Amino acid sequence: MTVTRFAPSPTGYIHVGNLRTALFNFLIARKAGGLFILRLDDTDPARSTQEYADAIQQDLEWLGLQWDRLEKQSDRLDRYTAAADDLRAMGRFYECFETPTELDLKRKKQLNMGKPPVYDRAALDLSEAEKEKLRAERGPGHWRFKLDHERIEWTDGILGDLSIDAASVSDPVLIRADGQFLYTLASVCDDIDFGITDVVRGSDHVTNTATQIQIIKALGAAPPAFAHHSLLTGPQGEALSKRLGTLSLRDLRAQGIEPMALLSHMARLGSNQPFEMASSIDDLVAGFDLSTFGAAPTKFDVANLGPLTARYLSSLPFDAAREDVLALGVPADKAQAFWTVVRDNIDTRADMADWWALFQNGASALVAEEDREMIETALSLLGDPPYDADTWGSWTAAVKDATGRKGKGLFMPLRKAVTGRERGPDMGDVMPLLQVKPRL
Ligand code: GLU
Repeated sequence: MTVTRFAPSPTGYIHVGNLRTALFNFLIARKAGGLFILRLDDTDPARSTQEYADAIQQDLEWLGLQWDRLEKQSDRLDRYTAAADDLRAMGRFYECFETPTELDLKRKKQLNMGKPPVYDRAALDLSEAEKEKLRAERGPGHWRFKLDHERIEWTDGILGDLSIDAASVSDPVLIRADGQFLYTLASVCDDIDFGITDVVRGSDHVTNTATQIQIIKALGAAPPAFAHHSLLTGPQGEALSKRLGTLSLRDLRAQGIEPMALLSHMARLGSNQPFEMASSIDDLVAGFDLSTFGAAPTKFDVANLGPLTARYLSSLPFDAAREDVLALGVPADKAQAFWTVVRDNIDTRADMADWWALFQNGASALVAEEDREMIETALSLLGDPPYDADTWGSWTAAVKDATGRKGKGLFMPLRKAVTGRERGPDMGDVMPLLQVKPRL
């Protein structure tokens, strides 16, 4: 069975970049009728918070990306300890005592000599007596996995055939000097134990994948299928990493961005399939194909989300908006007509409230000086509500007879007087929704 996971660290709010990872893994699982696991990578107690863990779940729920199972790495420390013991017993795990400053110095020296900054494995030469001495002086060391120096190869679901020379990569640290397990070991144990079959993540993880493949094999398991999606850039191709903080899903939600518009955009951005507005998660699942995504960096422009939201709303059937419409206090017998009238004239759902306020209380009329007299006459020719589908036609005919105005010179001033706006829905549809007689 296909099993995927989305594995954010609860150290911040998730943003559009994370969403891409979450969505791809979700869609792969759903398409295969498999399982989608939400895994909280919370091995760092100093930076992980319950607040962020809750927020991640709320954000995914808002999007409709429901997970089948929730796992937390902080619940699984015993398992990571056991895996570390296994690696130690196999001779694939060694203790190192360099301080961060020393490591930094080594890297600088290597770079100066034109060499890649790969850890030199000096700790492998330490005798037991030397290690004892270092432990006594510096406290416990950190632990590295000893890579086999061979080429690590896999066929990536997006990047195609990849091959990385393990000798060009530092032996990864799996346990810090303070005893904290690092993501690489925890992730590998989880991927094995939860039966993860497919991992999609950002291309910043390609090197991790190479080392993780060796660790997984060392622990006696088969690696999952890996795919690495390109990273998002800004509209000009600029790095987005610094701006991601302002592109959190919370913010987009607060701005009124519709989840389905956002998901539809993300499900096709960077793919060679054209954009299509989905109306449900099922649509997204049916149209998803990982092999259509390319390796090139993907441009993302947050400014597209507003128009996509408006477009989504304008095609949203009443049933999908009913609850929000009724919550405004629109009477049930007018709710559908109200939605049909406003859906083409809102940028976000919240804009509905302005229209309902207008229908309920009347607008503050927009009247040019030269139209004042004509509007006064017009208002004297209009009775009190309720109005119906014929009101606009019969009213404007009467105003035309009385004032001699016609065409735009008749309709535009009346629209502005009734709605307080230059543009909006068909006035024949507006009149039956008015709860009060327009006034100056
Ligand atoms: N917690 C890791 C991250 O957010 C997960 C990476 C992975 O998918 O393995 O980068």
